Amino acid sequence: MQTHEISRRFTTHFKDAGHTEVPSASLILDDPNLLFVNAGMVQFKPYFLGEAPPPYSTATSVQKCVRTGDIDEVGKTTRHNTFFQMAGNFSFGDYFKAGAIEHAWTLVTGSQADGGYGFDPDRIWATVYDDDDEAFELWQKIAGLPVERIQRRDGKDNYWDMGVPGPGGPCSEIYYDRGPEHGKDGGPVVDEDRYLEIWNLVFMQDVRGEQSPKNGHAPIGTLPQKNIDTGMGIERVAYLLQGVDNVYETDLVRPVISKAEEMSGRRYGSGNPVDDVRFRVIADHARSGIMLIGDGVTPGNEARGYVLRRLLRRIVRSVRLLGVTDPVLPEFAAVVRDTMGPLYPDLVKDFPRIEAVVRNEEETFLGTLASGLKIFDVAATKIKDDGGSQLPGDKAFQLHDTYGFPIDLTLEMASEKGLTVDEQGFRDLMAEQRARAKAAVKKTGHGDQTVYRDLLALGATEFTGYQELDTEAVVRGIVREGVRVPSASEGDIVEIVVDRTSLYAESGGQVSDAGLIVGDGVELEVLDVQKVARKLWVHQARVRKGEVTEGIAVQTQVDPEWRVGARQGHSGTHVVHAALREVLGPSALQSGSYNKPGYLRLDFAWAGALSPESRSEIEEVSNLAVRNDLPVRVVYTDMGGAQDMGAVALFGETYDETVRVVEIGGPWSRELCGGTHVERSAQIGPITVIGESSVGSGSRRLEAYVGMDAMRYLAKERALVQNLAGMLRVPDEEVPARVEALVERLRQAEKELEKLRAGQLLSSAGELADKAEDVNGTALVALRAPDGVGGNDLRTLAVEVRNRLGARPGVVALFSADGPKVAFVVATTSAGRDAGLAAGKLVPAFSPAIGGRGGGKPDMAQGGGTEPGGIDAAITALRGALTP
Ligand code: ATP
Ligand code: MG
Repeated sequence: MQTHEISRRFTTHFKDAGHTEVPSASLILDDPNLLFVNAGMVQFKPYFLGEAPPPYSTATSVQKCVRTGDIDEVGKTTRHNTFFQMAGNFSFGDYFKAGAIEHAWTLVTGSQADGGYGFDPDRIWATVYDDDDEAFELWQKIAGLPVERIQRRDGKDNYWDMGVPGPGGPCSEIYYDRGPEHGKDGGPVVDEDRYLEIWNLVFMQDVRGEQSPKNGHAPIGTLPQKNIDTGMGIERVAYLLQGVDNVYETDLVRPVISKAEEMSGRRYGSGNPVDDVRFRVIADHARSGIMLIGDGVTPGNEARGYVLRRLLRRIVRSVRLLGVTDPVLPEFAAVVRDTMGPLYPDLVKDFPRIEAVVRNEEETFLGTLASGLKIFDVAATKIKDDGGSQLPGDKAFQLHDTYGFPIDLTLEMASEKGLTVDEQGFRDLMAEQRARAKAAVKKTGHGDQTVYRDLLALGATEFTGYQELDTEAVVRGIVREGVRVPSASEGDIVEIVVDRTSLYAESGGQVSDAGLIVGDGVELEVLDVQKVARKLWVHQARVRKGEVTEGIAVQTQVDPEWRVGARQGHSGTHVVHAALREVLGPSALQSGSYNKPGYLRLDFAWAGALSPESRSEIEEVSNLAVRNDLPVRVVYTDMGGAQDMGAVALFGETYDETVRVVEIGGPWSRELCGGTHVERSAQIGPITVIGESSVGSGSRRLEAYVGMDAMRYLAKERALVQNLAGMLRVPDEEVPARVEALVERLRQAEKELEKLRAGQLLSSAGELADKAEDVNGTALVALRAPDGVGGNDLRTLAVEVRNRLGARPGVVALFSADGPKVAFVVATTSAGRDAGLAAGKLVPAFSPAIGGRGGGKPDMAQGGGTEPGGIDAAITALRGALTP
């Protein structure tokens, strides 16, 4: 049975049982505690937490998941993908344990002719939580499972919670016995490879306290409403139903292995277990990588981007270890597009962008791979020379951080050289870095959400800011350092929740509004506005005057000047985005944006810098759209309607049932957006692009000023030119030619100067030769030339001095320093060479003193070093080398 068919049957089974079908959320759903969506329940969290009422009582989904914790298992176990699809059914206060077990059982064991998976019921095992007698009995009653095939497991395996106080409950897992040839008898508690977990049912019934029942602590209460959350691994079911040995050989993963076989000429499953793991890693990671890029992740050095980078680089390295040196990622990407495309059509649509991202990442890595290998070799040699045996943690970290070497690559290279790696040191540095990354992801620091949950129970905030700037409202709650307080007075900084507000909360790239909250005798200055659970507007504000108490009537007031700028900034962003796509093509899709009054920036998928022509064309198209005074229209519709309109949905954003489409100039610019916009494009005012730069590979950033700020920026530039023209005493338009002429004259003057200096140096040759000292019958001229004299001049001078030593056996050694660098030249006369003096052989005698090396022929040797302070010592060493 094809994998796509397994998903389809799951959905049909639950839809027929009255569940609402909910599409998969993006892998990068905005959740501060998660790097990637890792389970089907993530998008339903607000309903489970009671932060929002569920729009349906039962639902089903097939959710894209990425589990980074499973990276090291990939290819080694039979059952762990980094990307997999979790099918689930959810009940919000509807059916509970009996319903969940029944639904799962009928699908798993129902005949294939009737739309089920047709697993042999005699090979199914179940586990339940230690004291969950209810589930234990239901498995016997509903499924007819004999007691020997129901096993009890402790909290570590079979209790679920979110890691914090809140909902929790026992789990019950469903296993399939693959048969005695795959391991020991005794059920899942004995062998998790022979007995394969395919489905986990979570019975949400408890309130977990500070301590988790996972570790044996009793729950502190019971949930008023019991919920069901389940997850079935589509890939695991596929591998069983397709009669293959593991999740990497299923119809959606195996084609990448075939591609790798074709490229490398090696065969998967031909008796080389190390190669086989590599094949599986390649296939798994190719799929995860492409799915992540599809959802808008680009390779980078932090958080999500780093995980993606690690996956892609591990592919490149594994392929190299299979003997392939050509670029491979674009070809693997095409295979993934073909296998996953039928279910995720955006992969096909976005393929040019996806391909550009992987191509670029592979090129970058192949570039640093060489330098990183060099760094590693130098470090390894030095450690061994010094008698050490361990690569320090900071080296491993540097290789990782600067050269993009995943730690397992470093470990492998080290062991080839007989070295270990200070993994603890590396991990400590990584932990520090991770902590920084996490802090960056966690934007709103709303740690304990209960206080907001209580406020949300009073109703969501009504946003009136699209229609008016000032709104009458009532203070619903005041929060101070996470705790609800009855009032706040002058000087206090608190969070204010009101029933209605005209103040825009930061979202969709637009910063929050500046403004005031005023009431009878009180005035608060609004510092920031954030949304909690997408429904509650939380205003951070400083009490300027009076006392604010819960329940009082107030007016929220948006600063009108600010809002004019904010609207220009946000509409300007849409205009630039549309211009970008017009000039570069539709694959230049925005991946992030930020706008505030007067300024905007936009990150978009693009490999390589924009040419100056494209840049000015984008600016031109944007300003034309402004001049054409296009109408701006807002349409409310559902997701399907928005797609029909061709509206651009952005990565990582979550959209409600009803979505808002903002269009500028009809179909020219249509985006899903909740921001505040101008009414006609002319109100945006001038747009000036001020910069374009790289933000990680495959991603560029364009920055622009809009409105009055654009005008001021241009005025400043004009003043600069006028200033320069004044200094140079030429008309404006002659400034470039004049500067060019000046630079040219400077260059000529520098050349002259150099010639003069060289001449002077050479004229001193005779004098130097006369001053040669006699060391054991050899005439030695060894000295430090003036700083900054380059290697070539040293050489010319050395030859000149040598000529003047005539027929004497002689050695000339000249040094000079340039900053931290030392250059040197050693020359011997022919009589000297007859007497056994070789320039190249003399070098090692003195070069360590200047931290350098070099070499050459008997008549002439040249080199450099890094310690100018050692020149005198080097001369002494050379003198010593001539003395027997
Ligand atoms: P395991 O112990 O095998 O890693 P788990 O306990 O982590 O599994 P759950 O968190 O209960 O799994 O996830 C629900 C279901 O999702 C599992 O029953 C399994 O079918 C599937 N699943 C979990 N992790 C993976 C993975 N890395 N690759 C493929 N499927 C997975
Ligand atoms: Mg797991």
